Amino acid sequence: MKKVLVIGGGLSGLSAAAYLSHNNFEVTIIESTSKLGGKTHSIQERDSKIEIDNGQHILLGCYFETLNFLKLISAKDSIKVQEQFFINYLLPNFQLFKLRAGNFFYPFNLLYGLYLFPLLSIRDKASLLKLLIKIKFMDSQSVGQLTVKEWLEKENQTQNSFKLFWEVICVGALNISTNIASAKLFCEVLKQIFWTGGDSYKIILPSNSLNKTFIVPAESFLIRNNVKICKSEKCEKIFIEDSKVFEIKTNKRIFKDFDYCLAAVPFYSLKSFGIIDTDDLDISYSAVLNIYLWLNNNPLSEPFYAIVNSPIHWIFNKGDFINITISNANNLVDKSKSAIEKIILVEIDKFIPSLSKEVRKIVIIKEKKATFIPSNNILEKRLKSKTKFSNLFLAGDWTDTKLPSTIEGAIKSGRIAAEEIINHHFNNN
Ligand SMILES: Cc1cc2nc3c(=O)[nH]c(=O)nc-3n(C[C@H](O)[C@H](O)[C@H](O)COP(=O)(O)OP(=O)(O)OC[C@H]3O[C@@H](n4cnc5c(N)ncnc54)[C@H](O)[C@@H]3O)c2cc1C
Repeated sequence: MKKVLVIGGGLSGLSAAAYLSHNNFEVTIIESTSKLGGKTHSIQERDSKIEIDNGQHILLGCYFETLNFLKLISAKDSIKVQEQFFINYLLPNFQLFKLRAGNFFYPFNLLYGLYLFPLLSIRDKASLLKLLIKIKFMDSQSVGQLTVKEWLEKENQTQNSFKLFWEVICVGALNISTNIASAKLFCEVLKQIFWTGGDSYKIILPSNSLNKTFIVPAESFLIRNNVKICKSEKCEKIFIEDSKVFEIKTNKRIFKDFDYCLAAVPFYSLKSFGIIDTDDLDISYSAVLNIYLWLNNNPLSEPFYAIVNSPIHWIFNKGDFINITISNANNLVDKSKSAIEKIILVEIDKFIPSLSKEVRKIVIIKEKKATFIPSNNILEKRLKSKTKFSNLFLAGDWTDTKLPSTIEGAIKSGRIAAEEIINHHFNNN
């Protein structure tokens, strides 16, 4: 049995370990923190003892890699695909507008929903539909080096379709403003959402915490497959000899007995090992803020709401509490807790009058390096799984998956790295 050392227990490492162990490789995971999950983790809230996530994660029906992974680890029931696509738009003074697919076959159900959507005029809808149809037939590469904003302007999108449709998807999926995000990547994402068929455009929310949805079932699967999981063990150095990794030093020991090493760590951790030339790749990050508000009375009845023209982007309704998500939050993340609370309370009152009076407790979770910024110059330089060292492979949402920094990208990168190792093994034996 060939031995693989996986460094990093985020979703990319867990995905790689799952596919490798499923293919009879002997896998050891080294994770520097005390729990698996990396950027998808949950914490126990002190008073309520409820598990809350480091951030609400939205998945989409086009997350095919994620769905396959959940199936492999027997956790497909832990997510809930919308029966019928809808998004609730919340406007000031608690005005609710629903963009909802009709009861027809795709894409007519979406077209009908759009036709009925009152916040867009006929002109807005015409410009939006024209571009949606064009995307199906266009090659994403053809948009060249444009940003999303430049591309949408070139495609004559109206102000309303920009704000209510394109910007919501861009900031939600790429976690960065339209004037920085790569149009090429955005176009690819849109193709996947709207033109891969089935339920690809539907929103999926985990039915439970991220921990219970992904991490607990993944860990159980790995343990069943005899994967050794070493938590609170940090890889400090990777030693190379004759173009191969021959030794891994952690804060606890030295590993020498392995055939392959898979680094499934963020770019900045890989850089610290100093073994891969990363001078060309200057990855920067975009923050996400999640604010949990416990309420005496919760007036919300829908599961989630999109908000435009506000620093708040989404409100998720969890019953006793609500979860406010602010994407692309680099301008807010360094503010103090009280400054952020003040902004949030003013803002929620604008949309849900007097809600701030119902708030009895606030928890703020800052993720400064939530996702890498997908600008055009970075996308071309993303590293592949294969490296110049014959037994070292890479995974992680930042590697070259052609996807943004998402759960889907992380899981895909792990699957790709596992396949590279499996192929390498079979081609050399
Ligand atoms: C707040 C927030 C909201 C998000 N929202 C969404 C969303 O709605 N939809 C979506 O699809 N995606 C979302 N994402 C992105 C998604 O969570 C990530 O893309 C994905 O989890 C990244 O997984 P990864 O394995 O590539 O990296 P990570 O999760 O960073 O995993 C890397 C692991 O390596 C470990 N490690 C690092 N260095 C070492 C070392 N030296 N030795 C050992 N271990 C090490 C780390 O501790 C970590 O566990 C969000 C992310 C955040 C933070």
